[in-house]
Amino acid sequence: MISLDKVKGVGAKSTMLLNRLGIFNVDDLVSHYPYRYDLIKRTNLSEAEELDKVIIDGKVDGAPILIRLKGNLNKMNIRLVTNDGKIVGVSIFNRAFLKNSLTVGTNITVFGKYEKSKNIILASEIRLGLLPKGEKIESVYHGTAGLSSKNIATFINTALMQFGNEITDFIPKSIIEKYNFLNKKTSLNIVHNPSTKEKLKEASIRLKYEELFLFMTKINYLKIKNKNIDNGLNKTYKKENLDELMKSLPFKLTKDQEKVLNEILEDLKSKRRMNRLLQGDVGSGKTIISIIALYANKLSGYQGALMVPTEILAHQHYETIKKVLKDFDVNVKLLIGSLTKKEKEDIHKELEEGKIDIVVGTHALIQGEVQYQNLGLVVTDEQHRFGVLQRTSLKNKGNMPDVLYMSATPIPRTYALTIYGDMDISVIENLPSGRKNIKTYLKSNKEIKDVLQMMYEELKDKHQIYVIAPLIEESETLDLTTVEELKDKMELAFGKDFNIGVVHGKLSNKDKDKIMNEFVNNNIQILISTTVIEVGVDVPNTTMIVIFDANRFGLSTLHQLRGRVGRSTLESKCILISDQDTKRLNIMTKTNDGFEISEEDFQIRGHGDLFGTKQSGDMTFKIANLKEDYKILLQAKKDSEKFLTSKSPEDVKLLETIIEDIKEG
Ligand code: ADP
Ligand code: MG
Repeated sequence: MISLDKVKGVGAKSTMLLNRLGIFNVDDLVSHYPYRYDLIKRTNLSEAEELDKVIIDGKVDGAPILIRLKGNLNKMNIRLVTNDGKIVGVSIFNRAFLKNSLTVGTNITVFGKYEKSKNIILASEIRLGLLPKGEKIESVYHGTAGLSSKNIATFINTALMQFGNEITDFIPKSIIEKYNFLNKKTSLNIVHNPSTKEKLKEASIRLKYEELFLFMTKINYLKIKNKNIDNGLNKTYKKENLDELMKSLPFKLTKDQEKVLNEILEDLKSKRRMNRLLQGDVGSGKTIISIIALYANKLSGYQGALMVPTEILAHQHYETIKKVLKDFDVNVKLLIGSLTKKEKEDIHKELEEGKIDIVVGTHALIQGEVQYQNLGLVVTDEQHRFGVLQRTSLKNKGNMPDVLYMSATPIPRTYALTIYGDMDISVIENLPSGRKNIKTYLKSNKEIKDVLQMMYEELKDKHQIYVIAPLIEESETLDLTTVEELKDKMELAFGKDFNIGVVHGKLSNKDKDKIMNEFVNNNIQILISTTVIEVGVDVPNTTMIVIFDANRFGLSTLHQLRGRVGRSTLESKCILISDQDTKRLNIMTKTNDGFEISEEDFQIRGHGDLFGTKQSGDMTFKIANLKEDYKILLQAKKDSEKFLTSKSPEDVKLLETIIEDIKEG
């Protein structure tokens, strides 16, 4: 992999910012695809009406005149000859720095509002250059504070120029020929700088195919590899010992829980390595199953690891495990990034010496460089399929631990069979009894008073509330202001009697944990959050979740968020706030069934977000989309099966690269 600093113009600071977007090398960079394309189209001024938004290109016709205003403000007036020879005035505020580049004769494109009566465009943006054919497709990228969409475009194009030919192509030659695919560099170039929609489509299909082919090849490879091989550890423990734990639980397992637990315990006992997915809607009680499995594993004399995507979740699971196993002789440790170096080293040492029975932590920390004495079981919680494939070899004295994946994402059966083709699947179909349906309401922004009233009722009953804050695209600073504003509003409404906390992406893990803990301990009653990363948190006293801009989420994500409440026998409510998309969102008010919702999501959205959104830090396809591209997926699946049996030296070599990719990821 080519490192980012090799790309001209990318320094240490940009590298750090790119890392934040999940970009760690040139391959990542060039596959940071636009999340949107804007069609920039020249306006016909004579058809425009007063105050219409317009885009006009032309030549600067007289030296710009700069007018200083109060404070540090300034205004610049420019005369423009448009491409069809008309004269129009352009005014723009606070761009004095552009004056020197706007010399007479310079070609520019102006974006703004047309004051037709005065024949002036009030510009919001001026760019150098014309729109050659009267229009242009512009790529828009997800950025981060300090790194704009334009910066990213520049880096990508530089990288493509420097290294375009060195980027790994995962499609075998024979397949490229069969489908007459464009080459990789050309496709990437087109997807980042499309000239027409047709070209863009052709290039996207190629890149989607590649992504899905790679994906299916990995799955099919793992399926073959894991099939009927006695490469696992067969574990033995005394049944009485496990029964003791079961008896100590504050509740009886549901029928479904018992069924899946038996499937898992059978796997542990068998010589075949376990590779099982445990699926169950939010709140179905997967955690306790994993704890019992980890305990059975410990009784058999092995270490276990529970990996989760976020530190908050790690904390929670750690506390839960300690509570459940408090009367049993088990050494449980928490391994998270916010520990001191010394603390981490101590844990590493104890793991290596086999002193720790169960370690809980985030994926990176538990995988990484950690050495285990005799790791027997790895449980991965709330991980999507795409993350699951990235299985780093755990350093474990050559032993192959059993692996259990837990996911709350309900997936229609046909899709599940394809994308989890290499795994056994256990499903918890029903929630523990006594749960009430979560009442879901859809409100417009105008009805915010109602919402506050409903919140008040809940607080009065001594319950807690999650608030998911509105999101402002692409700008963390703006994001923060909206959250702060929201916090002020909440303070104004409830601050006298209740405590309000905020968690957002900019907080350090330590601060986040602190606030989460205060929420868990009910020192905070309203928790405002900007992100949805806190999947899996379990605070049963929280009986209401309020989600602003609900329309920006897929139904499945909303269902996950809603699952943060209704975790006890208390009546719970979910309030979705949105002015748009109400037909789609209305489904949420009608059903609590995750599978039903996921089917609807598939049908309605065209691109369901079954597999999570990028914001939530889930592994997602970068360009392919399972719903829209399902046919491509099936084709790729077929092709990959054939490819895996190919003896051609070229194919064999490519397969080695792909296997390498599984191990590295
Ligand atoms: P998820 O499947 O979403 O991870 P959890 O494991 O967090 O769900 O369980 C949700 C809640 O249900 C927890 O508070 C847990 O203690 C409780 N729970 C689990 N199993 C049962 C059961 N059989 N009866 C009653 N409550 C249960
Ligand atoms: Mg869970």
